[in-house]
Amino acid sequence: MCGIIGIYGNPEAATLAYLGLYAQQHRGQEGAGIVTLDGATVHRHMGQGLVSDVYPDQSALNGLEGNVAIGHTRYSTTGGIDRKNVGPLLFNVEDQPVSIAHNGNLVNLAAKRRELQKQGAIFQTTTDTEIIIHLMARAKGARLVDRVATALEQVEGAFSLLILTPEGLIAARDPYGWRPFAIGKLKDTWVLASETCALDLIGAQELRDVQPGEVLLIDDQGLQTVHQLPQRTAKHCVFEYVYFSRPDSRIFGSNVDKLRRKIGKTLADEAPAPTADIVISVPDSSNTATLGYADRSGIRHEIGLIRNHYVGRSFIRPEQKLRDLTVKLKFSTVKGVLEGKEVVIVDDSIVRGTTMRTLARLLRQAGVKKVHVRITSPPIRFPCHFGLDFPTDKELVAAHRTKEEVQAYLGVDSLEYLSLEGLLASMDLPGDQFCSACFSGKYPIALEESNSKDRFEMEFQDSEVIPDPAL
Ligand code: 5GP
Ligand code: MG
Repeated sequence: MCGIIGIYGNPEAATLAYLGLYAQQHRGQEGAGIVTLDGATVHRHMGQGLVSDVYPDQSALNGLEGNVAIGHTRYSTTGGIDRKNVGPLLFNVEDQPVSIAHNGNLVNLAAKRRELQKQGAIFQTTTDTEIIIHLMARAKGARLVDRVATALEQVEGAFSLLILTPEGLIAARDPYGWRPFAIGKLKDTWVLASETCALDLIGAQELRDVQPGEVLLIDDQGLQTVHQLPQRTAKHCVFEYVYFSRPDSRIFGSNVDKLRRKIGKTLADEAPAPTADIVISVPDSSNTATLGYADRSGIRHEIGLIRNHYVGRSFIRPEQKLRDLTVKLKFSTVKGVLEGKEVVIVDDSIVRGTTMRTLARLLRQAGVKKVHVRITSPPIRFPCHFGLDFPTDKELVAAHRTKEEVQAYLGVDSLEYLSLEGLLASMDLPGDQFCSACFSGKYPIALEESNSKDRFEMEFQDSEVIPDPAL
């Protein structure tokens, strides 16, 4: 997943983009970047880490002049955690600067990438995103936006895209509308963002979504829809409502907070825990759903876990051993609340099982009598190829285990997941307008080849230090 932000028509474009990145830090913590355009001159400042690492103070924004900016927070789903892959990517197309920020993940690309390489294309990154630039550079069309549309007709998968060009700011969204993408306005300034929480921070008014399949151009004439990619039944990512988006955002036409509470209520109906004394959340991701569960079940809501906000997300740590430690660093228990109690702990999802297994141990150490785990999504059994970094099925704890086996692995007294029917019934839109492939294995697009995250990584390691002959 990633977060993207676009600003058109403001002398403070870089600062507004920076704020937009801050609001969308939760969508990607591996890297951040901003590219601005000042007439024909392009400026870029990017780096690995959090927004506050990349822009520690105002001076990092000083050189980013221009009225147009795009920004990106990265969470890798194709290509490694590597500086060259941090967005927005920047290229020259016929001596014009073109920069691209992408949220989503493209699939079935290997053959196309090979074909382009045979024709002489030299790829600079191992991302899926770069292919769009190569296809666009080869496409015919009077304007860059027409060439972008031609390129997008040739790719498959999830994309919410911002492309900065001297002809204007281009935005596009895949025909399934996989990832959220909102358009707003702050007086005369156009603001486009993955999530509306970024518009709110900037003070922009939400106008509408970039529609699934829409390719649009913003220039001095205003906003115009230039192209419509072939229509499909929407396949919005249901996991955006379960976990990814912030509760104060509005995505796919509904408030995340509202649907997340509803999901918690549905879970309370499906999986009560009548003997429990209290219900606690795993902050912050399951706070909202837990309110729904507590409200519907009538079990008292307590704050039993305290989260240390200065530790990064546990999910991202590469090694299993380290991950355990990070969970402990991140959460501590409130013993006075927990001691002697029978506790329902609500979380949004179980991926590898690390978080819940460690938390269950911590709860017992705090004197909890019984641990009842309630999860506001079905078991994640299949990898995501459309923008979430859900690992291969070997690492997914529920992929090859029964519910009883997962419960034993977690070491808890009961475990219940929300059913897929219950999850989809909690949505405002009909169930067939969501992608829930990570739960069901029913991918909306036929996957023709391996779409693993590292499929374009080079086989050599370039970390060897070559001594400088002058020394
Ligand atoms: P696990 O520890 O089972 O591998 O992961 C479950 C925890 O990770 C849950 O608390 C959930 O909130 C969080 N989580 C679920 N999906 C994602 C994701 O795509 N990215 C990140 N960073 N965390 C996730
Ligand atoms: Mg969580």
